[in-house]
Amino acid sequence: MKIKTPPMPKNRYKWKFDEQYWERVAQQPDWYMQLVPYVKKTQESISNVDELANFRKTIGHFFQKLLAEEKLALASEGPDLDAQREPVSSVVIHHTSSAPGYSIDYMNAVHLLNIYAPYYFQPTVPEEMELRGKPIWSGHFKNGKQNFIGYHWLMRMDGSLEHLLDDNQIGWHAGNWSVNKRSVAICLDNNYEKMCPSEQTLEALATHIRKKYPEVKSENIMGHCESSPGTICPGVHFLEEWKPKLIEYLK
Ligand SMILES: [Zn+2]
Repeated sequence: MKIKTPPMPKNRYKWKFDEQYWERVAQQPDWYMQLVPYVKKTQESISNVDELANFRKTIGHFFQKLLAEEKLALASEGPDLDAQREPVSSVVIHHTSSAPGYSIDYMNAVHLLNIYAPYYFQPTVPEEMELRGKPIWSGHFKNGKQNFIGYHWLMRMDGSLEHLLDDNQIGWHAGNWSVNKRSVAICLDNNYEKMCPSEQTLEALATHIRKKYPEVKSENIMGHCESSPGTICPGVHFLEEWKPKLIEYLK
């Protein structure tokens, strides 16, 4: 009897992420000089939204693993990137744009990939051009490990808060350096792209802002979309629907 070979599973995606190759690249201090153009080029070639999300998750989880296993080349020292910190006078609201329960370690990898790596690849401030190609340094540490998270706080759905950066540290979150210097970032652990947070969430958020940052005027409470036009974070209903409610709760 002839044995039929089972059909090969069809590769759903055009791209393939070669982990072994990138594991070797990750040991080089300038790993992002290869990774940033690769990610950009691959993302441009993907038109399907789910496929794009899948690609991003694959890279994010891979770097989360490298960070956990300390297999990623990073700087062991560097300049004080918080030297320009100003007194906190603004609060910027973000959302994770994912289902509740976002992992802090995954967020750390995502912010390293989406914020620090592209900046070191292509610094925008003339006096920082020399960073290009150098190993990445944030100067922020958590549990003895370098930390790349851009937010100061993550608020979970039950209103509890995860403290991610100190107030004297500049978070790279607003897409706007002058706002970064004077703001704290609070991220809500949910996807509010097309829906509003509950009254309970807004009340908890207002309570936290009032308690921790009583000096911040309500006109300086803003969404990420206000400091960086071009992003819809923290969602399309923020400006007209839930920001006014939040300001009301702050009174
Ligand atoms: Zn944001």
